[in-house]
Amino acid sequence: MAWRFALMIDPAASDDGRTDYDATFTQVDPSAPALTVGELSTQRGDGIFESIGVVDGHPQEVTAHLERLAHSARLCDLPVPHLGQWRQAVARAAAACGEGEAVIKLILSRGVEHGPTPTAWVTAATAADFTAPRTDGIRVVTLDRGYGLATPAQAPWLLLGAKTLSYAVNMAALREAHRRGADDAIFTTSDGFVLEAPTASLILRRGDTFVTPAPNAGILHGTTQLSLFEHLEAQGHEVAYETVPVAALATADAAWLVSSVRLAAPITAVDGTPVPHDAALTAAMNAYLLSPRD
Ligand code: PLP
Repeated sequence: MAWRFALMIDPAASDDGRTDYDATFTQVDPSAPALTVGELSTQRGDGIFESIGVVDGHPQEVTAHLERLAHSARLCDLPVPHLGQWRQAVARAAAACGEGEAVIKLILSRGVEHGPTPTAWVTAATAADFTAPRTDGIRVVTLDRGYGLATPAQAPWLLLGAKTLSYAVNMAALREAHRRGADDAIFTTSDGFVLEAPTASLILRRGDTFVTPAPNAGILHGTTQLSLFEHLEAQGHEVAYETVPVAALATADAAWLVSSVRLAAPITAVDGTPVPHDAALTAAMNAYLLSPRD
């Protein structure tokens, strides 16, 4: 990861009516230590984050990411981030990104143990080269997430719709996918429905309809999926949120994992069985996703 920029944010200083938040930021060396040992983000994964794609210095879908950060904060009983302050921090980070693709991360942690305020920071780094997954596609395996479709509503303390820093399970699922000879995973419910990937949303094409699993508190509502659905609808396609049975993966006309930085990666095999791959449509989707989007 080539770091480009890091900014500590003082979230406590955001609420006093100012419009310029520069004085609430401290730029730090991204390769030097910046957190204290009492940080609850590192001790417990107790915090939330966002990853924003940046193309030639333009941060994509900033409002959607800030709204999801605020949504995650509400679910986690964290102070709701001040959107003006975070928007200005994103602009500072984007200005450090230069040409090409980059990723800006926003992190809001519960703070230091027994400390008075949350800890917040923003980083910018060069993105990895995702040409191969975008063009050649990815093989996925289905992995049981271990809960039923009704669980998120029955157990909101599992925080299943929040983008929390506790991604150890998501990373373990990716390692399991690699052990099984695949590139990525699709989580399924224990009662046989499709959810999302560990770091991406799933979109299926069924004829002229694009379908994604309904984000009913069990999965994140992906900003990339939302943006693509708007674009596809504007082009005259049907889009739908549905409860998708696992069997639908094998019968789809095409399928993608979509996310803010890797963008649209076409699925070429599910659990070792090849599935159709629409190269032209994927290229058009990625051309749209790489264009400046607000
Ligand atoms: N689902 C999960 C679990 C994710 O971690 C992500 C992104 O990291 C997504 C879906 C896709 O979200 P977005 O399109 O906003 O990147």
